[in-house]
Amino acid sequence: MVQLVNVTNMARWIQRESVEKIIGEMIEYLERDFKRWEKFDKIARVASHTPFGVIELMPTSDGEEYSFKYVNGHPSNPARGFQTVTAYGMLADVDNGYPTFMAEMTLLTALRTAAVSAMVARKLARPDSRKMAMIGSGSQSEFQALGFRAAMGIEDLAIFDTDPAAMEKFRRNMEPLGFRIHLASSVDEALEGADIITTCTADKAQNKILARHQVKPGVHLNAVGGDCPGKTELEEQIVRDSTVFVEFPPQTRIEGEIQQVEPDFPVVEFWKVLTGEEPGRQSDEEITLFDSVGFAISDFSALRYLRDSTAGTELQDFIELIAEPEDPKDLFSLVGSLKPVG
Ligand code: NAD
Repeated sequence: MVQLVNVTNMARWIQRESVEKIIGEMIEYLERDFKRWEKFDKIARVASHTPFGVIELMPTSDGEEYSFKYVNGHPSNPARGFQTVTAYGMLADVDNGYPTFMAEMTLLTALRTAAVSAMVARKLARPDSRKMAMIGSGSQSEFQALGFRAAMGIEDLAIFDTDPAAMEKFRRNMEPLGFRIHLASSVDEALEGADIITTCTADKAQNKILARHQVKPGVHLNAVGGDCPGKTELEEQIVRDSTVFVEFPPQTRIEGEIQQVEPDFPVVEFWKVLTGEEPGRQSDEEITLFDSVGFAISDFSALRYLRDSTAGTELQDFIELIAEPEDPKDLFSLVGSLKPVG
């Protein structure tokens, strides 16, 4: 039996529960899984690069359940009427290898990326953080904003995007939800007085969305957009002058901001902050950088939370995905009694 949450039902679930409640509860699943990090099978995602973008498979398993996500990243897509990122994924039972649950993951990825960013910031940003600057106001941005309000109570946002229509869209979506939003005319203007800076732009290039002199002591950087070889957002000196926290180093060293520095550049694996093996922020002046690229364990947590939260409701549909003959050796029985075509 494979249960499915499709796009319509995912949207219904989010409307019913609210983004902030979902992100708050998803963080609990994420923290539980990050704290048992060593139990998981982990590999850097399998990426297929083309001049248009990347298609990735992201598998993991805790020995009882297995998950994978299919996700694309095509920064040139919006100009052609497609989204930059789309995804779907599934859970399977390790015991017999059968798939058990499948879901759309374009919306779920936006929720999980925001939940991970918020979970990390809650540990690393200064607790008195009140204002966030957001550079890039595309598909992920509203979810990021709601994640930071859910986890840290952030309501003051200054945003900048090279596309004025994307900024207007953000204001239209977020102002009714009670945020105080300033549409900035430059990155510098957006950064004024910011305690947290989220960069979430899409461009297959080694960009310098932020220069070193723009990052003040004590800031927490949530760098989400640089998630692919040859695709970064921060000037290298920012990386060098920050304490860098990552998900899975072998993947982040290929894909994250730290692809700009030497292969043994020191980083902290964030799960160790949760278990207490490594400190988080150590002073009010320290710059903390979450070099987010998105790792399979977060998708595993998000899928399991979605499945548990929608179990037994009309939001899950049964799909006939696995061929199951009565005699497990007689697969042909499913076709043998069919009349020949024609
Ligand atoms: P999107 O295309 O919907 O939005 C990106 C926005 O960035 C656009 O509005 C664009 O105008 C803006 N932009 C591009 N260059 C800019 C610049 N130099 N200055 C300011 N704004 C600029 O994309 P999205 O779905 O919101 O994703 C954003 C990025 O996050 C992508 O690169 C995506 O690959 C990445 N992402 C990362 C994770 C993760 O886990 N780290 C998860 C999902 C998406």
